[in-house]
Amino acid sequence: MSEASPGRLRALMQALQRLPGVGQRSAARMAYHLLQHDRDGALQLAQALQAAVQGVRHCALCHTLAEDELCPTCADPTRDATQLCVVETPADQAAIERTGVYRGRYFVLMGHLSPLDGIGPDDIGLRPLLQRLQTAPAVQEVIVATNFTAEGEATAHVVSQLARALGLRVTRLARGVPVGSELEYVDLGTIAHALADRH
Ligand code: ZN
Repeated sequence: MSEASPGRLRALMQALQRLPGVGQRSAARMAYHLLQHDRDGALQLAQALQAAVQGVRHCALCHTLAEDELCPTCADPTRDATQLCVVETPADQAAIERTGVYRGRYFVLMGHLSPLDGIGPDDIGLRPLLQRLQTAPAVQEVIVATNFTAEGEATAHVVSQLARALGLRVTRLARGVPVGSELEYVDLGTIAHALADRH
């Protein structure tokens, strides 16, 4: 159907297909919905996208997405600089924060290694992590809190090697977290225990 669509409509559909999990049919449905039923929402979406792309960047310290040079967590001087917890996503970081038991600092990879999907070391924040570890003399322990999925474990392996090569103590969240699970969806008590029992 997009074959017969006018140029602007086709361009919109193609742009929507850049979203993960959105194929040709969903993109067409979204485009028709926005143009037919929600033109105000469509403009809002366009403006929010533009503002976010222009105004959101990586935190200079932890690599998460931030509006300022430092994210609020990195800007907090009361956080313990001797511990650095490495997570895959801001959602995983938020899950650990919600337990209230961790007062150290973070590094957010913004993804995990996944060779099958073409995601290699340069596609996630491994280089900035190395840089962080090299320029943060206070760090004594790197807590690897990537997910307990195949990709998370592979990522954990690389992160651990990187940190050990710099002579840092490396711990991994304990195995209380179910295999195959993403931290984001694990209950707080389990995460808190996994943190306390890290090895
Ligand atoms: Zn930060």
